[in-house]
Amino acid sequence: MTKQDIFSAYTEYIMSTYTKVPRIFVKGKGMKLVDIDGKEYVDFFPGWGVGNVGHCHSAVLAAVRDQVGKLVHLPNNYFHPAQAKLAAELVRRSFPGKVFFCNSGAEANEAAIKLARAWGTTGPGVPRYEIITFKDAFHGRTLATITATGQAKYQKGFEPLVEGFVTNVAFNDFEAVRRAKTDKTVAVMMELVQGEGGIHVATPEFVRSVREFCSREKLLLIVDEVQTGMGRTGKMFAFQHYGIIPDVMTLAKSLGGGLPIGCTVAHKDIADTLKPGMHASTFGGGAVVCRAALGVFKAIQKDKMLANAGRMAPFLFDRLEALKKKHAVIKEVRGLGLMIGVELSRPGAPVFEKCLEKGLLINCTHETVLRLMPALTVNKKQADFALGVLDEVLGAL
Ligand code: PLP
Repeated sequence: MTKQDIFSAYTEYIMSTYTKVPRIFVKGKGMKLVDIDGKEYVDFFPGWGVGNVGHCHSAVLAAVRDQVGKLVHLPNNYFHPAQAKLAAELVRRSFPGKVFFCNSGAEANEAAIKLARAWGTTGPGVPRYEIITFKDAFHGRTLATITATGQAKYQKGFEPLVEGFVTNVAFNDFEAVRRAKTDKTVAVMMELVQGEGGIHVATPEFVRSVREFCSREKLLLIVDEVQTGMGRTGKMFAFQHYGIIPDVMTLAKSLGGGLPIGCTVAHKDIADTLKPGMHASTFGGGAVVCRAALGVFKAIQKDKMLANAGRMAPFLFDRLEALKKKHAVIKEVRGLGLMIGVELSRPGAPVFEKCLEKGLLINCTHETVLRLMPALTVNKKQADFALGVLDEVLGAL
């Protein structure tokens, strides 16, 4: 197929649900993507949050290659060693609990929502089902998760939405959470660094207050680590920065190193609310994706990626702060670990486009926030390249 054939096939045969960038990529390794013309790009936003270990990491490839030669799919009424091993690893790395496997972040959150509702029917008194979520949250694109997301731009045209959510509660405002609680509230669901919403970091006081409140009021604290998990913020999971443990955690994106896997981890007593037949996923936790995820854990460990993220984050923040002094268009630099937002005083789309022309892939979210989320392996040379391009592009605005 020629380039034009490929573009035409997309127009003709693929639903136009995405705003497309006119580039066809055919190869990737680490921080590098190569397009169909052989042009190389440095990828500072690999896989929309999927590429924590970079493109095509050897540990992931080796695990997947080995597994596809043995068994690709096994339904969830049977047992497979890779799923057992991955669940044990997830629990060992997070908190004592049990895991439900699915294929994406939205499904992981959907499972958490169903689990919370089921759990809400078990206590004394009325069934509790209401879930509190926050302004600028993002939890996925299923009907329940766009409702939880609470933003009109994701909901318009899909009404009626799902009942039982109190959304748009002010982030980092504990009093607002207290006010939002009713006798039907069963859970609070939150990202610790809001990703799609423009890289807003939860404050330690807020997170600790919400954790104490949830414990006191017998509410579940559901932490959506779909984007923050798997080392993105410099710790394996973002909650580990805050000295708290959630009741339920959801993961996806980087968990599979590029393969589709998501999961919901819950404390044992809560997890046991779900009995056989109450929830399921045909593909969830398949042998190949579980092997891939085990490859991701191995890669993070073997290549000491958390330590590298811990070293590179301050380097990037310092350099971005220096750019802020130089370019008045930068309003704020914020983030946690290698989840970085650069808020501009004008729309970021032209900056994205100019960076693309110069071989740098970044993202712009929430209209004005440039989002940088390089692989955890990012080095100073790659960072220098990215910052150099940004400097040039911002200077020419
Ligand atoms: N939760 C968060 C915090 C996300 O950032 C995303 C996707 O961007 C999702 C959930 C949805 O994940 P998926 O696209 O895999 O369904």
